[in-house]
Formats: sequence, structure tokens, C-alpha cells
Amino acid sequence: MKLKYPFLDLAKVHKPMAQELKQAAASVIDSGRFLFGEQTRLLESELASLCGTKHCIAVSNGLDALRLIIRAYKELGFLRDGDGVVVPANTYVASLLSISDNSLKPILCDVDSQTMCFAPEELERIVRRGCVKAIMVVHLYGMPMWNEQILNLAHEHNLLVIEDNAQAIGAQASVAGVQGTCITTGGLGHAAGVSFYPTKNLGALGDAGAVTTNSDELATAVRALANYGSDRRYHNIYCGLNCRMDEMQAALLRVKLKYLSEETGRRCLVADAYSRHICHPLVKTPSADEKRCAPVWHQYVIRVDGGKRDALRNYLAENGVGTDIHYATPPHMQPCYQDLEHAPLPVTEQLASEVVSLPIAYPMDGASAYEIAQIINGFPCE
Ligand SMILES: *Cc1c(COP(=O)(O)O)cnc(C)c1O
Repeated sequence: MKLKYPFLDLAKVHKPMAQELKQAAASVIDSGRFLFGEQTRLLESELASLCGTKHCIAVSNGLDALRLIIRAYKELGFLRDGDGVVVPANTYVASLLSISDNSLKPILCDVDSQTMCFAPEELERIVRRGCVKAIMVVHLYGMPMWNEQILNLAHEHNLLVIEDNAQAIGAQASVAGVQGTCITTGGLGHAAGVSFYPTKNLGALGDAGAVTTNSDELATAVRALANYGSDRRYHNIYCGLNCRMDEMQAALLRVKLKYLSEETGRRCLVADAYSRHICHPLVKTPSADEKRCAPVWHQYVIRVDGGKRDALRNYLAENGVGTDIHYATPPHMQPCYQDLEHAPLPVTEQLASEVVSLPIAYPMDGASAYEIAQIINGFPCE
């Protein structure tokens, strides 16, 4: 059965810009230049200006962006094997993979069920216990995860702050103490990794990612590490990797980047319509603190009470609405992390059983969100 509102249809997403995308691809083919070309250079400068950072390094994907940041901090002597990195337990597994792949220790912190940010007492307890050298903040669902506590703890304990910005390019957070000042995600911490996986709010037509940072030292190390560890041709200062973005993805992303603010504006309208019109005793809508942040709504995630999540999903599918779950199994319950030590994570585990993501990508609009809200409101309660 074809759904009236599929969760995500990438062919449809690209339809309004298909001609431009095809032209961009054709010009890369005709240029004969597939790596280290003008498209990558231009994309890097456009992304740095979007994130308000001094540097941007285009890389192969979001996981590699995060891996390269941590690896670079190791090469530069800021992090060592076995150091702890606090990370929210309620995240995509790739956040943790970037840490464990570098022989560092992911320290899982449960989240607050309202803000989805670190549970404040838990974060405090973990950092005070020691062994922590960095905090990885994850702007999950396009919501900036940022507050005074993170800033203060980082300052007081001299911690690196790494942003997993895979889901939130273009989002903004107002920063503690600086009234009215907004900083774009990717420029909040010391370094950030972005993902351009096709389903992300800014998606490539394949794999791609980027690192943003204001640090000259880190940018230089990441750039070298992503290119076999070479600082110049045939001269290797690190045992590096190959994590480069190609010209094709850079050219396609530059087309899509032109539409990002329009896309974000549309997502905000859809989110607003959902939040105003969904009214059901078993359903909680997400809360964004608009005085403190401007989310980009990578996902619009509701929570369903009373063990009715799967029933609601089936009901929605029967009524032509596609949904998804982000994420059904938290990283600490994945087989690969069965030996990872962690404190109890009740909120994360509860969220995993309650969350449902509603359609939000183009061509969703306010009217279709209204219609979906009415369908949800008609979900039988018993
Ligand atoms: C998608 C994602 C990643 C990984 O990005 P890829 O480009 O798929 O490697 C990392 N962290 C989070 C939170 C993500 O959503």
C-alpha cells in the first residue's frame, strides 16, 4: 500500500532541485577533477561561514568526522588511550563508536526526559568522579544540546567539548551570560562533526561529512589525518586515514546548501503545526525552549505512553502515515557494547520504548501536519 504521507521520500525531496543537481554532477564529470578541487574548497568555506567557525574540513562521513576529531586530539596530546568521554546515553550508536574506535572510554550519562539533554545531577556526578577529559554533546533531532552547566563544567574541569552535530547543522543556541547572542551549532564547542548522510537535514547524495572548529591546530591535524596523515605531498607526519570528501558530493551539497534555510523554515512550520494540533492523552509532543534555542527539527519525535507506541504506529500506517523510530535500541543495549560499564539508564531505556518520529521532510507542510495531527487525535485510547 502506498502511504499518503511516507516518512521520507528522498526522490521527492530532490525534485524541486533535480535540474540543478544534475547540472552540478555534469560539471564535475566534465571538469575531470574528483578530489581536492574547487567544489570542496568552496563548500568548506560556505559551511564555515554557516557555522561561524574559522575552519571547516570536508570529510567522508559523520562518523569519520568525529573519529578524526578525537584522533587529532590524541595526536596533539590533549587526549590519551583510556580517557573518559561523557556522552548522552540517548544517542545514535555512531557517537560512541567514534570514542571507542580511538581506545577512549564512552561514559554514558542518562538524559532528562523533558530536555533530552544530560540529566544535570548525573552529569555533575560523572565529571566530579574524575577520569573525564571531554564531553560529547549531541544535538539530537536538530535540538541544540547546550546550557550553562555544560559550559561551566567544561571550564572548571578543563574539558574538551566535542559536538556531535550530525543532526543539527544550522541550529542555534543562545549562550549563557551573553544575552541575545546566538551561536550556531558546530561553533559552540572546541570542535564539531557534521553528517551529510542522505536522510539528514542537509543530506548529500551518498556519504559525506565535515569537521568545524575555531582551532588552527586541530584543523591542521584533522586535515592531515584525513589524507593519510600527510601535511604535504609524500610527507607523512601521522599514520593517517583516507577520509576525504569527493568533488561530486561537494558540488551536490553546495546545491542543497542553498535551500537549507528555506528547508529549515518549512520544518519549523510543520513542527509548530504538530505541536499546536496534536492533543491526545497518551501523546507528548517535544518541547523546544525557544528563548534559548532555535532547533532545525531534523526529526519531530513524539512520545507515546502506556505501551501503545507500536499500536499507534500501526494505526498511523493504516491511515496512510509513515513513521520511524529514533532509536529503538540504545547504544548500551547493542551487542557490541555488552561489556561497556555504565550506571542505570532508566530514562534512555524508557524513551527507546516510547518515541515515534513523524514525517517532517519536504513535501510536508503545515496543512499536512494538521491532517496527521487530527489522525493522531483520533487514535483509540483503550
Ligand atoms: C548520522 C549520525 C552520525 C554518523 O554520521 P554518518 O554520516 O552516518 O557516519 C553520528 N551521530 C549521530 C547523532 C547521527 O545521527
